[in-house]
Amino acid sequence: MSGLVSIEPSVPEPSGPSTSVELSEDFREFTDARTLAEIVRWSREVVSDPGYPTARAWGRSGRGAVGCFPVYTPQEIVHALGLLPVALHGGGENVEISHADAALGSFLCSISKSTLELALTHQLDAFRAVVFPYICDVSRNLEGIFSRLLPTVSTHMLHLPQNFTSAGSVPFLVAEYRRWVEKLEKVSGTRLTDDALRASIETFARQREALAELARLRMNEPWRIDLSEYYLVRRLGGLLPRELHTSLLGRVLEEVRGRQRKRRDAIRLLVVGPFCEQPTLDLINLLEEVGFYVVGDEFLMLHEWCERPPPDDDPLRALARAYVETPRDIGVRRAPSQKGTSIVERVRSAKAESVLFLTAKFCEPALEDVVLYRRGLEKEKIPYLHLEFEERSTAYEQTRLQLETFAESIFFE
Ligand code: SF4
Repeated sequence: MSGLVSIEPSVPEPSGPSTSVELSEDFREFTDARTLAEIVRWSREVVSDPGYPTARAWGRSGRGAVGCFPVYTPQEIVHALGLLPVALHGGGENVEISHADAALGSFLCSISKSTLELALTHQLDAFRAVVFPYICDVSRNLEGIFSRLLPTVSTHMLHLPQNFTSAGSVPFLVAEYRRWVEKLEKVSGTRLTDDALRASIETFARQREALAELARLRMNEPWRIDLSEYYLVRRLGGLLPRELHTSLLGRVLEEVRGRQRKRRDAIRLLVVGPFCEQPTLDLINLLEEVGFYVVGDEFLMLHEWCERPPPDDDPLRALARAYVETPRDIGVRRAPSQKGTSIVERVRSAKAESVLFLTAKFCEPALEDVVLYRRGLEKEKIPYLHLEFEERSTAYEQTRLQLETFAESIFFE
């Protein structure tokens, strides 16, 4: 931690966001958006502003926003306290790292550095609280750094169990959630009630159902919606008030179902690995340009980690059970003995023909699992490719070549 002290003098004076999209407090830009093209255009604007414009707009009317680092946070708790949960996905290609390098080693993933850079350059000033789930050593250390650097912001490291069969896992998680609730109650100036939490669970269940419907549509008829459109609509789901996002999804689904588009001769692909740091939109577009249809993915797992919480008298316990009982298998969820079979099941259920391991550079949880997944795929003779990415990658000639070669090897098999 002594390195922290040495970077403090280099923290710049407050200067506000470098690029700015000022949304209205009632998010009129989205309520007025009638077409998918308009929604996607606004999503692009919002995502390319590293100062989290939806948190700023929400905060202008005196309401608080909570930054949620990937992968999973029980956002329902934040919502039930009248706060806006906002998914933090680093700075992407929009942030130049000039201060965070002094605190974090060059061998760490980009999202850790860009998130710290955002804090150091006051791009996260709209947040009253931030939460870091303990998904890896990097996220754990970020919480420590944030608590020192941002003394006025409530920080929390959320401990999530890794043992999903122990009878102690759910009580442990309930206690952990309560510890966080105490902090958030101070931030919001409100007490969490069971009724408010039940209402929030319903709100998020409706959003999840609409997102799952869009994912099914994309899986069954991927030609109806471009991957970048699909991605940007989903990304908004972690940024906007969820009730608004659910109503936008209704419009999107209606338009996409009615689209007349020709089906391409493309290879169905499952993308595994980008559950935390996100690839650039250019890289996402490239996947389809070279001849794939992405029919299953791990982008933005926040929405997909848990299914609807099971019925339970205690809504906090329902949330804890949803986490412990979810069948999802991703890199930050440990069940090594099942990894080989689970990847094959996911390939089959998405009707995918191939797998792309798209892992963030230096992301240990993602890289460790590639070895286990590969064994399962090789046994079933399912073709796969492994590529690494960084947030600020701009040149993709080599990546294009690798993807094209992979596609050709499947086409001409
Ligand atoms: S990208 Fe990987 S290593 Fe980095 S914070 Fe996320 S899970 Fe941890």
